[in-house]
Amino acid sequence: MIFDFDLQRINVPLIEWFEKNKRILPWRERPEPYRVWVSEIMLQQTRVEAVKPYFERFVAELPTVQDLAECSEERLLKLWEGLGYYNRVRNMQIAAKTVMEEYEGVLPANYEELLKLKGIGHYTAGAIASIAYGIPVPAVDGNVLRVITRLSEDDTDIMKQSFKNMMENALRESMPKDAASAYNQALMELGATVCVPNGEPQCEACPLWDLCITRRKGTAMQYPVKSKAKKRRLEDKTVLVIQDGNKVIMNRRPKKGLLAGMYEFPNVEGCLSEEEALGYVKDLGLVPVRIQKLEEAKHIFSHIEWHMKGYVVKVAQLEEDTGGFLFLEARDCIENYPVPSAFERYKEYIRGLVK
Ligand code: SF4
Repeated sequence: MIFDFDLQRINVPLIEWFEKNKRILPWRERPEPYRVWVSEIMLQQTRVEAVKPYFERFVAELPTVQDLAECSEERLLKLWEGLGYYNRVRNMQIAAKTVMEEYEGVLPANYEELLKLKGIGHYTAGAIASIAYGIPVPAVDGNVLRVITRLSEDDTDIMKQSFKNMMENALRESMPKDAASAYNQALMELGATVCVPNGEPQCEACPLWDLCITRRKGTAMQYPVKSKAKKRRLEDKTVLVIQDGNKVIMNRRPKKGLLAGMYEFPNVEGCLSEEEALGYVKDLGLVPVRIQKLEEAKHIFSHIEWHMKGYVVKVAQLEEDTGGFLFLEARDCIENYPVPSAFERYKEYIRGLVK
């Protein structure tokens, strides 16, 4: 159990290992508060390798808190396109406005103040405070929970908030007060690269090898203990790429809810047959001339799973006043409109129309 485990013993070998083995990452080169913040929000739910190009593009276009606060919603969503969980970037913009109004454009060097900002929870506040400002507070993410529960053979359900709080308190006590940045990053790095989430941990490469209880007992794979997430709801959808030459119809999603404010191809609940799909297009007042099946696709959100069937329907002439939809040139759609990756397979078709 974590209570019985002397966590201070990990400090020296962990940090020494980190200094020798840390990956070169764009946000590590200049760990300024804004850059740490952007990277940490992007890294929630997304792999390091996938985040790198997004991070570079984002901070090149919006290099300061002020730039983020003043960015148009459409551009912001476009910069985030493909990363998913779009509320993350909306919340960042709300927080950026607060930072402009209340902190003169600089993220506060104070854990409690950081926690008050929209979208910043315990983990992110801890990461910004420790990495950018050297404040000795922990940053407990899934990697840290995995490493510590394996080390200490703690079988408490890591999904319990009370356990996360307890872990934070324990680490706050034991972490080296003069090396908070390296310590937090080292724990996360160890969890991401050695004590990995999927597959066997690389114990022979672990600096905590001789301290680890589950490694000794050969039970590491049984940890952490995690209660099962609720089952996802399955939804069938039919996606329609309605095309006239190199123009297509797009729709803007409602301002609230899943993928709020993003752009999508017209789509309807259920699996429509070709005939039904043609009927839908006719109901929009359009004249379909050809229908062709597109590949099926699946997209997994945290609580829902979309199973999509797709058609491209060529129509005689797009009328500008059809049902509140937008009529976009394929290139314009690809370059300027944020379309969630759920529709990636159908966007692929649109890319083919761009000369
Ligand atoms: Fe994880 Fe193995 Fe290191 Fe224990 S020894 S912390 S199980 S990698």
